[in-house]
Amino acid sequence: MWMLESKKGLKRVLLTYTLKENFEIRVTRSCMTSYEAGCKDPECKFQICTVKMEGGNYWIVQIFEEDHNCTIDDLHNRYRQASTWFIGEILSLKLAVSGQSLKLKEIMTDMQMEHGLDLLYTKAWRVKELVENNIFGPSDLSYQLLPAYCYQLKDMNLGSVKQNLSTSVLISTEQAPG
Ligand SMILES: [Zn+2]
Repeated sequence: MWMLESKKGLKRVLLTYTLKENFEIRVTRSCMTSYEAGCKDPECKFQICTVKMEGGNYWIVQIFEEDHNCTIDDLHNRYRQASTWFIGEILSLKLAVSGQSLKLKEIMTDMQMEHGLDLLYTKAWRVKELVENNIFGPSDLSYQLLPAYCYQLKDMNLGSVKQNLSTSVLISTEQAPG
């Protein structure tokens, strides 16, 4: 039985597990006292149900049906398509821990090293924007700059793009409300 110290910890463990096992979850219930999820395939029997311990912060796994009856082929297809969601979740956790903007190159390296995911530069950028907007609030500036980076990507080496990117992230973070 798993017992986790917080809901955040629970989500992190579950995310690591889904990455290792190569599938995606569908959250079916998430509130102050419970967190439940199934396989992305609604027909699949995989299921996890957790509740918060009364009078404490610990979360306990009540039901953990770890077997899947969705097919391997489907799993692999889903996994490829799911990566935006996956990466978004991972980045949210990282961001919540570090409390500061993430570097694109770091994101790409982390995903490769920790999760074996090859991430395209444009996809990394998109997910990063989504996640940081959720946490820091929207930044119009970085959206305006995006086409310029795409242009630079074609003509310049990655190092200089990265340098410019760091500068803009700094600016957009400073201007973000809160
Ligand atoms: Zn499944």
